[in-house]
Amino acid sequence: MRIDIITVLPELLEGFVNNSILQRAQKKQLVEIHIHNLRDYTKDKHRRVDDYPFGGFAGMVMQCQPIDDCITALKAQRHYDEIIFTTPDGAQFDQPMANELSLLQNIIILCGHYKGIDYRIREHLITREVSIGDYVLTGGEIAAAAMADAIVRLVPGVLSDEQSALSDSFQDNLLAAPVYTRPADYKGWRVPDVLLSGHEAKIKEWELQQSLERTRKLRPDLLEAK
Ligand code: SAM
Repeated sequence: MRIDIITVLPELLEGFVNNSILQRAQKKQLVEIHIHNLRDYTKDKHRRVDDYPFGGFAGMVMQCQPIDDCITALKAQRHYDEIIFTTPDGAQFDQPMANELSLLQNIIILCGHYKGIDYRIREHLITREVSIGDYVLTGGEIAAAAMADAIVRLVPGVLSDEQSALSDSFQDNLLAAPVYTRPADYKGWRVPDVLLSGHEAKIKEWELQQSLERTRKLRPDLLEAK
């Protein structure tokens, strides 16, 4: 899988994509992540990518030309399955969307800034608009980082134990069961006996019961969606 991220703040993302799971995925050659500085595509001699909005509104708007040129240059090299714009009014990013996107070959994630991007880009070039929640961030970089992380960990072979991703929260519309590690008794706080029993079937049953109970209590909406 290949993810191309377009941003005016590449330095914000470089540390993130070159650490932890994203770094491991790239080292294993399962995923390529490329960050593009939008300013490299502007024709403005001061490397500006924004201008005042028509209508006299407040704030600045990212212009069509650099975004169009960057996306066009990428599209000339390969087919993209999705060209995603991060935006608070987009569809809510969630685990089913992460699952779906992890199956794609090539995606572009465009990070907005300022008041956002010229709407014509959204109408003519963007294939999908995605929000990471009902709040407004300063730029799309945190959204792109969150999406890339959630997607890449689902690409087969990225996690050393694939079962681990399957038992995470939201897979199967359930919250994950609690997890414990050594020591089995810490200051009298004991790990549930069943987890020390070595009885695989009973442990699986306990895990499912815990998942259902926690989902019922904390996120009943997920069970309704099942
Ligand atoms: N004026 C825009 C609005 O009200 O929808 C918000 C602009 S915001 C300050 C700048 C950029 O941050 C957006 O274009 C988008 O790329 C990104 N952004 C902000 N909040 C986001 C969210 N919840 N999810 C995804 N991207 C977000």
